Amino acid sequence: MQEVRAMYGGGRLRIDLGAIVQNYRLLARRIAPAQLGAVVKANAYGLGATQVATALVNAGCQLFFVAHIDEALQLQSSVPAKIRIVVLNGLPLGAERLCAEAHIIPVLNSLDQAQRWRETAAAIGRRLPAVLQFDSGMARLGLAHHEATLLATDESFGRLVKLEMVMSHLACADIKAHSANAMQFDRFTCMAAAFPGTIRSISNSGGAFLAPVFHCGIVRAGIALYGGEPNDIATKALHRVISLDARVIQVRTVPAGSRIGYGQAFCCSSAKTIATIGVGYADGLLRSLVDRGAAWFDSTRLPMVGRISMDSIMLDVTALPPGRLRNGDWVELIGPNQSIDQLARDAGTISYEILTSLGARHDRSYINAETASKAKAA
Ligand SMILES: *Cc1c(COP(=O)(O)O)cnc(C)c1O
Repeated sequence: MQEVRAMYGGGRLRIDLGAIVQNYRLLARRIAPAQLGAVVKANAYGLGATQVATALVNAGCQLFFVAHIDEALQLQSSVPAKIRIVVLNGLPLGAERLCAEAHIIPVLNSLDQAQRWRETAAAIGRRLPAVLQFDSGMARLGLAHHEATLLATDESFGRLVKLEMVMSHLACADIKAHSANAMQFDRFTCMAAAFPGTIRSISNSGGAFLAPVFHCGIVRAGIALYGGEPNDIATKALHRVISLDARVIQVRTVPAGSRIGYGQAFCCSSAKTIATIGVGYADGLLRSLVDRGAAWFDSTRLPMVGRISMDSIMLDVTALPPGRLRNGDWVELIGPNQSIDQLARDAGTISYEILTSLGARHDRSYINAETASKAKAA
């Protein structure tokens, strides 16, 4: 099936594992002496957790973050047993034994979770590892200040639960100058003080590009590994990781006044050459790209015209020399001419949503796995 998809499918996705490793090393250098953990939730932002984690383990990464327990179990089957895996979304009721037996490290996001983990440790007679999260200003997950203070005085918690780190999450790390960053940092520092000597972590990729104090002991990076710009001072130093091409499946010329696509929403003011490509919103090309998105061919921008269909998109290719673009040719959607962030901006979203929406229909291949594994020796 893979072969048939490669021959006749609509999209071609290349994932550069060497570039992911280069981004890992660039970030690790930037935040040293803090340690870098890799966030591989949602199947490594859609890029393949197994392949990505294997490359990163070879590059020396020892700490991974996922959102769910099943993601942790899945990941364990592809990395060595000594690799630490943290589950960000917390400890669901009833999952305590499963986590303990699988040596998964849950983030404890509430007093209830902390208590259940402590009781599990007592019941199985073994000190259990955990991460403790504080809510420092996002009201998503984690203990409130008074809850953190309360837990810190619980002597049996300290005895039965080995805190690998205390963490919080920045709401505005994508905007470097946002005042919430320093405010959250101060609140986090206050709460963390109740757990002296415990390693701290507040930064995601965006935080890695804030001042060094934000790096604390551990940085949890996702999007920057995958080549997305982490914030508004985004470094161009990050390596591009993916390229996405779409196959041209029909080319036609239409007279002035022709209407294109669902709702006949686009009307041609002049005669146009229209190319239809074989990818659509089911492949992560969001419907919101209408009127703004484009593909590229021969360094020429080819605007999307009309609404995005599930499996196809029409492009205005009139700017190309007649006959230049033919059935079976590939046009670029993400690549040297169009970054993932550009595509995301055109869709009115962020690179994260583009990546995690790419779906399973593209012909996927992983390149530079060898360079990725050589990174270890270097
Ligand atoms: C997803 C996530 C990250 C990674 O964020 P990026 O912006 O992709 O680097 C880090 N920490 C937590 C708690 C997350 O949920």
